[in-house]
Amino acid sequence: MIERIVEMELPAGEKLIIEKNRIQGERLRPDAARLAIVTGSHGDELEGQYICYETARRLKEGLQFLSGTVDIYPALNPLGIDVVQRTSPLGNVDMNRVFPGSPDGTLLEQAAARIVEDLEVGNRISPEYGSRIVDGIFNVMKLLGMWKDREDMLAQG
Ligand SMILES: [Zn+2]
Repeated sequence: MIERIVEMELPAGEKLIIEKNRIQGERLRPDAARLAIVTGSHGDELEGQYICYETARRLKEGLQFLSGTVDIYPALNPLGIDVVQRTSPLGNVDMNRVFPGSPDGTLLEQAAARIVEDLEVGNRISPEYGSRIVDGIFNVMKLLGMWKDREDMLAQG
């Protein structure tokens, strides 16, 4: 389900629109975890959109295996992505420097505050999940050949 997180009128009649794609499993439980994938704050780094696309594609093929919620925010800086520019064309601002934003600030600060509110940052990751997420990061580093643990070293001889 596509949900509009930010919709703001811009001076030239354009709109700043930031959306998320919420994908929920068929076996959704009330206490199930929620994972947010957030990318696209630098408009010249399009790898994040590919990862969002591929993750969403695989999740939708296997909804019967998913018991939680995955929220994908593919484009935090859609105006920058439109012109393949690192910063937002609104004031040449680096979106990564705008967070956590402010409801009373500039347009981008307001957008950032709305995103942070939607992400519910900091109130979902229990220590139990935290260690599993760290394990996942190390698994990615193994895939990239950046990390070998003791077992890998022993297997190598
Ligand atoms: Zn970046």
